Order: sequence, then structure tokens, then C-alpha cells
Amino acid sequence: MGRVLIIGAGGVGTVVAHKVAQNPDVFTDVMIASRTKSKCDNVVKAIGNPNIKTAQVDADNVDELVNLFNEFKPDIVINVALPYQDLTIMDACLKTGVNYLDTANYEPKDVAHFEYSWQWAYKKRFEDAGLTAILGCGFDPGVSGIFTAYAAKHHFDEIQYLDIVDCNAGNHHKAFATNFNPEINIREITQNGRYYENGQWVTTQPLEIHKSLTYPNIGPKDSYLLYHEELESLVKNYPTIKRARFWMTFGQEYLTHLRVIQNIGMARIDEVDYNGVKIVPLQFLKAVLPNPQDLGENYDGETSIGCRIRGLKDGKEHTYYVYNNCSHHAAYLETGMQGVSYTTGVPAMIGAMMFLKGLWKKPGVFNVEEFDPDPFMEQLNKQGLPWHEVFDGDLEL
Ligand code: NDP
Repeated sequence: MGRVLIIGAGGVGTVVAHKVAQNPDVFTDVMIASRTKSKCDNVVKAIGNPNIKTAQVDADNVDELVNLFNEFKPDIVINVALPYQDLTIMDACLKTGVNYLDTANYEPKDVAHFEYSWQWAYKKRFEDAGLTAILGCGFDPGVSGIFTAYAAKHHFDEIQYLDIVDCNAGNHHKAFATNFNPEINIREITQNGRYYENGQWVTTQPLEIHKSLTYPNIGPKDSYLLYHEELESLVKNYPTIKRARFWMTFGQEYLTHLRVIQNIGMARIDEVDYNGVKIVPLQFLKAVLPNPQDLGENYDGETSIGCRIRGLKDGKEHTYYVYNNCSHHAAYLETGMQGVSYTTGVPAMIGAMMFLKGLWKKPGVFNVEEFDPDPFMEQLNKQGLPWHEVFDGDLEL
């Protein structure tokens, strides 16, 4: 049905490659390209399908990308490199007539700033070129938006309160490790919190607001209010929303390590001079922390991510909770990666599948909730991320 180029061979890229290989009727020709080609070759070896091609590419360099796209001629690129590369890859797509999908919004390297404006600014150019760009198609952002779209389509006339709840109740048995790229992860968590209420954004201190929330099959966990990028598009696409928030669980041990990392300056993202060499402390820290790709083997427990929604249907107030639980160990047995990479990579593959099947295809730049959620929800059940619903339960929020 179509040719796909995966860029990035980290934890998420590895899962995407496994899932793409499991769906050969949709993905007829596959290439995985990244900065370090040997990582791509290792992924292909693990999958055991020698037909998957590999290549080296520096995705910060538009010319290199253009050459690769002209050579392989993909129908769609799945960008699972880092958020810094979003714009260069979108530029290369426009120059070569290739469609685009990613899992995280663009961030400039020198400031931890999360907003869609840079990528939304490409809308007209993608429209004029007749190309589709699908933004934020991991789990959160990604499935969180699709869950919201599904709730809006089937269960509510008006969504008024939205809480996205993200729990990782797994244990990797390391003193400290992040579940995806440590640099991106620590930048996200150490920023100010932010939520939307009555038409305004309210800013909090980092991790200032927290409460205990109960997760299915897991129990109560301390959950912290964070800013998360999908809030920006969801309040725009669902203007009836009065309040939208995002919560994530953290253990005390993790938070203590994070506090020390910040206090000693290791979370800094500016350059410092060390013996005449310029280094960015957070990038150095990444080099000494456990690689998220290697956490899978001893990871037990599960993740639980979902949307808790309150709103109106036929004039009456209702609540709705839709969620997925994912076992780290099951994810590892299937792909060699832990659950956080798995819950991101599976939706990225499904998004590309939606595009190639012609179900999510329209010229322009879109967030996932702007497409029909039904065929995507159906695939989640088939591709390893089954979801569950609770109607009119206590949302705790
Ligand atoms: P990793 O750090 O494990 O992998 C990133 C990959 O991108 C590596 O293979 C890396 O190559 C490659 N890469 C980095 N820079 C370049 C470049 N300039 N050119 C080519 N390749 C490059 O990250 P993850 O797999 O954990 O995360 C991937 C993406 O998924 C991130 O953008 C992250 O924000 C996003 N994500 C989204 C989630 C969601 O739910 N929406 C949740 C978790 C992650 P090398 O190995 O050589 O450095």
C-alpha cells in the first residue's frame, strides 16, 4: 500500500519499526534512518526482516534529508527523532512532496518551550502542496487527543472538563532513569506547570499542584499537574472546554533525584566551559544516565494513561473515563522495549497506517483530534493497546 521512512532509531523508533513490520499489507517498503546507522541495523536484525532498508542521516540538515527522500521516495515519514528536528524534516517533506507524522512538537534547542505555533505556521504550505502533516501522534500527545475526539463524537454534546491522567506504575529497578530521551524528559518536567481555565492559561510553579488519583488495576498514586502540549490544540479544537489539565505520576525517589540534578546545575541547557570544551550539562547528564532503550529487560508493572471527561449529553451532566493499561514486560517481550516507548510507537505506526489507507488524508497540518477517531480506536485494540471505558464513575477531579 505504501512506502514509509522512519527517522530515529531510539526506543520509540524501535517500536515503530517492529509494528510497521507486523503490518506488511499496509507498509510495503520500509526504511529506518538515523544519525547512527548501526542502531538502525541493530533494529532490523532484532526484527529479522532483511527487506527493511537502513540509512544514515543527520535530520538537522535539510539537504541531507532531501537527498534521502529523493532516493527512497517515501509516501510518508514517521519522525521519531527528537523534537528539535521537526521543522527541518517538515521542510524536506515540502521540498520533495512527502507526507509527515511526528509524536512531539517542535522545541528550539536553547529554550525549553512547548507550543505548536512553529508547526502550525506550515499549514498553508502543506495545503498548497497537497500534503498531509499529522502532529503529535504518540500516546500523549496522540491517543489522549483521539480519546477526546472519540468522547466528543460518541458520548458528549459538550465537553466541559478534561483531565488527561498519565500514570507509570512500573519499576525498572534503577536508582534513577527516564523512560524516554532524558534531555527532552527533564526539560518537560522542570518547566512551570500550566493549565487552562475559563479561557485563560494559569501558570504554576513546577510540580506545585499534586493530588492522589486512583488508576485502574494499580491503585492510588501521587499525580502532579504539568503543562503538556496537547492541551494547546485540544482547547482550540473543543472551544466548549472550561478547564483542561494534565497529570503525571512521579515517585518520591524520582523527584528527589530531579531536585538534586537541578540544584547542582545538571539540568542547565546553556553551554558551560569545561577545560576549554563547551558542554551542555543536561546533554552530558544524558550520556551518563541509563539509556531508556535498555530499561525493558527488568521493567515490571504497567502504565495507565487516559482521559477523564465531564460534560453534557442531552442536557444532562455525565462523566466518562477512557484509558489504556500497558504492561512493560509484555511490551518488552514483543519489541525489546519498555512500555513508554511502546505506547508511543504503536500510535505513530497506526497514524501512518490511517494515512496510507486514505482514512486520515487531507492537505494541511493537523493535530490528531482533527481526524476521524473511529478507525484509529479500532486499530488500538488490534495493535496491542486495548482501551476501556467507565461511564458516570467518580473522576476524583
Ligand atoms: P531516543 O533518544 O531514544 O531516540 C532518538 C533517536 O533520534 C536516536 O536514534 C537518535 O540518534 C536520533 N536522532 C537524534 N538527533 C538526530 C539527528 N539530528 N538526525 C538523525 N537522527 C537523530 O528518544 P525516544 O525514542 O525515547 O523518543 C523519540 C521521540 O518520541 C522524541 O521526540 C520524544 O519526545 C517522543 N516521545 C513522545 C511521546 C508521546 O507520547 N507523544 C512519549 C515519549 C517520547 P542517536 O542514537 O545517534 O543519538
